[in-house]
Amino acid sequence: MSFGEKFGRRGPTVALHAGGVGHEFAQRQGMTTSPTETRMSNLSYVTPHADSPWQTYLSQVDRVLPYLGSLAKWGETLKRPKRALIVDVPIELDNGTVRHFEGYRVQHNLSRGPGKGGVRYHPDVTLEEVMALSAWMTIKCAGVGLPYGGAKGGIRVDPKALSMKELERMTRRYTSEIGIIIGPQRDIPAPDVNTNGQIMAWMMDTYSMNTGSTATGVVTGKPIHLGGSLGRVKATGRGVFVTGREAARRINLNLDGARIAVQGMGNVGSSAAELFVQAGAKLVAVQDHTGTLANPNGFDMADTMEVLKRDGGIANYKNAERIDNEAFWDVDCDILIPAALEGQITAARANRLKAKLVLEGANGPTLPDADDVMHDRGILVVPDVICNAGGVTVSYFEWVQDFSSFFWSEDEINVRLDKIMVDALRHIYETSERHKITLRTATFAVACERILIAREERGLYP
Ligand code: NAD
Repeated sequence: MSFGEKFGRRGPTVALHAGGVGHEFAQRQGMTTSPTETRMSNLSYVTPHADSPWQTYLSQVDRVLPYLGSLAKWGETLKRPKRALIVDVPIELDNGTVRHFEGYRVQHNLSRGPGKGGVRYHPDVTLEEVMALSAWMTIKCAGVGLPYGGAKGGIRVDPKALSMKELERMTRRYTSEIGIIIGPQRDIPAPDVNTNGQIMAWMMDTYSMNTGSTATGVVTGKPIHLGGSLGRVKATGRGVFVTGREAARRINLNLDGARIAVQGMGNVGSSAAELFVQAGAKLVAVQDHTGTLANPNGFDMADTMEVLKRDGGIANYKNAERIDNEAFWDVDCDILIPAALEGQITAARANRLKAKLVLEGANGPTLPDADDVMHDRGILVVPDVICNAGGVTVSYFEWVQDFSSFFWSEDEINVRLDKIMVDALRHIYETSERHKITLRTATFAVACERILIAREERGLYP
């Protein structure tokens, strides 16, 4: 019997016991929403298909509602974004012609604080994808206990096809268009796939020009001299490492000599790989948009970083064998780190994995059916909503430092990050063991409880 059959579609008989917030879940009487009543929210503006990110997110919510006792009556709140803005972004190209891009900013939930979430530049970005990414931000911020709601933004564009000047014009126009809903106390964007510190600097400057005063706190992930934080660039990878280290300890997997395979060697994947290699692990396979390479004796990390910096991809790394992209999922390894895109681990691939531990550096890399397969096969999955929360945690530090105009040392930041991640994972782990649920459902349970308590306490306006 799969995990989904055991819990997700039938539901447990006990609700969660909430700690430290004055809500005694054991006293909550029964469920107001039975699992069989849970359904896809019927939004006219999006039609999720079976494997789409938004559908994956909805399935994850359905799995947790039965654990929320009477709070489940607010469950529909989680299944629809509070606000979704679609903007037209017209710019003049260097050759004098005008081109229009489609942009989005979605604020999924603001019950616990201002929106927080990155901006993605990718030709395949859709409103539905941004909705899912914004919802995972809501869960992530609540799961780690940050005082934020969830948001996300994106533009349908291949940024590599634009010149720097065109990229700047597009970023500035997009920032102006979404300026009506962002702000240091409203919604704070950050980098995501194909965006970086330079893009954040342009966003900060554009917002500041429009409002008439320098507002460093409107975005995070900025360059250091513009109010950025030490440690932010590598924070997400560091969080993947910290949660991975803690999870490995719990399953008696020694990092010294452990073999890791990484999909996506960008900001997240490469930072995480470096830290694992420093801890004695061996990088045995890498896949990125330029191909897949394997070396059972381990990649040389310094050479790997050099190639990535020089070429923007792994393809020209010499000391490894090029293998078929699909063979990546059969590689003999102990730890698998998907750190690229959504929907990568399908049920079929999950059945072939050799890893004992999967660390979700990317957002939404695993489909719900694959979750069940990995659970049944005894593979421990540290889900995105806790595993990659290191980035937003240091973004939170950056935001706090910007308000106080007092900046911390990199050591202080890394120590605080480590403690927040370890404490959050411990609480989630205990929840998972107490209720015999996966770490993903446990993270959703902890987070949704916090979000819906805030929802209930704030009350319904008017
Ligand atoms: P990035 O742009 O720096 O790197 C993306 C990597 O994915 C690159 O190595 C690229 O080659 C690879 N890739 C792209 N298409 C691929 C394909 N089809 N097959 C295999 N590899 C492919 O992006 P990033 O910031 O490292 O983000 C990666 C993931 O982590 C995303 O899911 C993002 O949402 C998530 N994430 C990022 C942060 C952050 O702080 N940057 C925080 C939380 C989560």
